Amino acid sequence: MKYLAAILALSVTSLVGARAELTVASLSTITTDIAKNVGGDRVKIIPIIGPGVDPHEFQPSPADIKKIVKADLVLITGKHLEGYLTKLEESAGGAGKFVDTGAAFPSLKLEEDGKMVEDPHWWHSIDNVKKATAVVEKSFIDADPANKATYEKNAAAYLAELKSLETWAKKEVSTLPREKRKLVTSHDAFQYFARDFGFKIYAIEGVSTEDEPSSKKITDLINTIKSEGVKAVFFESIENPKVVTEITKETGAKVGGELYADGLGDKTAATYPEMVKYNITTIVDSLK
Ligand SMILES: [Zn+2]
Repeated sequence: MKYLAAILALSVTSLVGARAELTVASLSTITTDIAKNVGGDRVKIIPIIGPGVDPHEFQPSPADIKKIVKADLVLITGKHLEGYLTKLEESAGGAGKFVDTGAAFPSLKLEEDGKMVEDPHWWHSIDNVKKATAVVEKSFIDADPANKATYEKNAAAYLAELKSLETWAKKEVSTLPREKRKLVTSHDAFQYFARDFGFKIYAIEGVSTEDEPSSKKITDLINTIKSEGVKAVFFESIENPKVVTEITKETGAKVGGELYADGLGDKTAATYPEMVKYNITTIVDSLK
């Protein structure tokens, strides 16, 4: 009897010890924040892209690929931001464990060099992030049904935080008159934000950070800033400030500050709600 109890105790211990910890690789600081909130202590997150890394130019290293291959799930932002995705799926033995968070809502399309391209910067719409949170929640539950109740509880708490963030954002932007909602930034990353909050965007570069702007484009932009009376021009946290500085000199517009366009920051704007608050406060204060 004693022997049996010992065996039972042992098998219970090994069952608890073997409880599946979900390993989730994340290819964006935004999906990392969602995963942390939904996963809590049940999920081990492996951030492949950290703060300050330009996702447009990122290429996974052999070490990154190893981590991705080993992970149970891989979160991506989708909408063609991860240009290396097909190769990565091949390395990982198929697309099965890739969770496309950006597939939960429609894309904005922008014209670039005469053709229409998908705008990947969907996280500047809080509503999109709510939908992406539901996608992450479902993927965690499907992969680890034993912790369903925890993922549901965590996701509900994060969604409530996003809802109050949305309320705050609307109120904050409403203090800026409509005719002043003109945003000049380094690259075309704020169209979803513009749609939700009634801004017009004038970007120095296109939807990607890879192409240098032509001198004609810069001249046109300088003329637009002058004729529209735009008060401020914004840097981005991971973009070269050279062109922005040149534009402020030519137009007399001031530097409005630094915005987080392509992902979260290290100390400032280190979570998604903090990033939204930081960007909106910077924009509203500078354009008032
Ligand atoms: Zn971008």
